[in-house]
Amino acid sequence: MTVLVVNSGSSSIKYQLVDPVGGGAIASGVVERIGEETGSLTHTFGGRKVTRTDPIPDHAAGLRAVLALFDEVGPDLASSDVVAVGHRVVHGGSVFSTPVLVTDEVVDQIEAISPLAPLHNPANVTGIRVARELLPDVPHVVVFDTAFFHGLPEAASTYAIDRDVAREHGVRRYGFHGTSHHYVSRQVAQFLGRRVEDLNTIVLHLGNGASASAVRGGHAVETSMGMTPLEGLVMGTRSGDVDPAVLIHLQRNAGLSVDEVDDLLNRRSGLKGLAGENDFRALHDLISDGDEGAQLALDVYIHRLRKYIGAYTAVLGRVDVLVFTAGVGENDDVVRALATAGLEPLGLELDPNLNAGRKKAPTIVSRDVSRTTIVVYPTNEELAIARQAVEVAEAAGLTGEESDDSPAAAGHA
Ligand code: ADP
Repeated sequence: MTVLVVNSGSSSIKYQLVDPVGGGAIASGVVERIGEETGSLTHTFGGRKVTRTDPIPDHAAGLRAVLALFDEVGPDLASSDVVAVGHRVVHGGSVFSTPVLVTDEVVDQIEAISPLAPLHNPANVTGIRVARELLPDVPHVVVFDTAFFHGLPEAASTYAIDRDVAREHGVRRYGFHGTSHHYVSRQVAQFLGRRVEDLNTIVLHLGNGASASAVRGGHAVETSMGMTPLEGLVMGTRSGDVDPAVLIHLQRNAGLSVDEVDDLLNRRSGLKGLAGENDFRALHDLISDGDEGAQLALDVYIHRLRKYIGAYTAVLGRVDVLVFTAGVGENDDVVRALATAGLEPLGLELDPNLNAGRKKAPTIVSRDVSRTTIVVYPTNEELAIARQAVEVAEAAGLTGEESDDSPAAAGHA
């Protein structure tokens, strides 16, 4: 069986046809620049990569073009035993604590949460609507980025502001990247031959967006992103934590509009704002050339990351595993080394030899004597979504598969 995983952005659709049991990506691709003069579509299958540059007026046209490429380049979806379409949805608000089967009511509820995620949820909804129209015979499942953090302790999810105002406007901490934090915290336990119930884990998901979580016995107890994905760590283009009064100051005294402040903090801040580059490879090159802005960007990034490691150590009391994942976490040994340097008193002892280089597979990078095992574990959000989609579809009796063959039964959940 296979699952088509779809991630719709405002001007893009990323997709992957996943084998949920074996874990492999059978085909994948991305539609970009939807609604612009020239769109582009890249589809990869069986070692063959096909790129098209045609205008793609809307998401429906984008997805139709994707399905046409499946027909033309392969694999043939009709004979691929597609048991579900799994959709990534960024914000599940206070409503959704688990993945759910898509119904008209679910789509309406996701749309109703849009004010909390105006950049993401409307695009996700468009993708779901279009995909349901074009693939009406397959169950569609939504997997929420917030779901893993739905059960955060109230002390962690509550902002210390007037409770009535907060309640009326949904102002609380929701957390994001949940699919990755959930997947990685479980998989790493399996990798170490431990029960997830017995482990206290800090997960550092360091991609272009970045977040940290503290996971006790498989349950998230703290995370760095808040009401939106803007809070917390320094990111590629997002500021992470700032004094909220900065926003007031910029609007009151610098004459910036709400949209300008939004743009500043989401797209012109973080590494990009400090160094002009948001990719760590470019940042390291600039630092080698003696660029002071780039050095400062790295210093600020690392300083914030270390503060979170310290804070989450205090939250958990005992940390059994520290995991690095996502683009930066998996590939950047300098970031991993700087983030943990000198933290032996906290029980973190990185092994410089084991840490060296990029990690394409799960790898222990701490010394044997380290109280906390430091692991690089590659995330795989598409696979996590695919497996959850199968579980939901199976539970609803919609896959036609024997439940004994389910990924859960095979120990992959
Ligand atoms: P997202 O899914 O948030 O777009 P990724 O998890 O793919 O991001 O991470 C992308 C980031 O990973 C890049 O911006 C870059 O900073 C970093 N990265 C990717 N490859 C490398 C590498 N070889 N060395 C250092 N950093 C890398």
